[in-house]
Amino acid sequence: MRNGHALVLFSGGQDSTTCLAWALQHFAHVETIGFDYGQRHHVELQARQEVLAALRAGFPPWNERLGEDHMIDLAVLGQISDTALTRATAIEMDAAGLPNTFVPGRNLLFFQLAAAVGYRRALHTLVGGMCETDYSGYPDCRDDTLKALQVAVSLGMGRRFTIETPLMWLDKAQTWELARTLGGTALVDTIITLSHTCYLGERGPLHAWGHGCGHCPACALRRTGFERWQAKA
Ligand code: ZN
Repeated sequence: MRNGHALVLFSGGQDSTTCLAWALQHFAHVETIGFDYGQRHHVELQARQEVLAALRAGFPPWNERLGEDHMIDLAVLGQISDTALTRATAIEMDAAGLPNTFVPGRNLLFFQLAAAVGYRRALHTLVGGMCETDYSGYPDCRDDTLKALQVAVSLGMGRRFTIETPLMWLDKAQTWELARTLGGTALVDTIITLSHTCYLGERGPLHAWGHGCGHCPACALRRTGFERWQAKA
């Protein structure tokens, strides 16, 4: 067990569910925070609740460590972004090669808000599922960005915060394997059946790797990672 208590940025997706399991394995007390910023599909917000309920029901030791869930209304983000996440626009790659699901710098904002909540609740480790190994190119997912942010948040709030990103150097196949290591097939099954990753908000039929359209950048990463993981198993 590590010292201190943790606050996990939890969206209900594969990555943040794996991070939540990681935190529950390593910290005596863990809380979760999520952001409602007018996602086109409330599927994602529903997935959060279902995953939390499944972790509580299926993993009694984790249930004891899992505290409050904080849901923050960030509707204001819908006013300052015009992307496929918040508007009915087709997923396209923009000129910089980023999917236009990009809400510029949103992880900076999410961590800052998480730090403000963590400050009040003595949760000084902030955990996020950012990764720069298999990712869509968002610069605010990069290790350097988050290390710089850790320094800025700690200085600006006058106390030491640690940002943990357990997935940073894992590819998607390794993320599946981490889930298996942390919670066995029960956790893998929870992630497959309940977590939500698809940018289009599509649930559709249950595939081997979970629900989703199978073609958007998020589904493609999830599906190919699962297939690579299965091929190695
Ligand atoms: Zn999809």
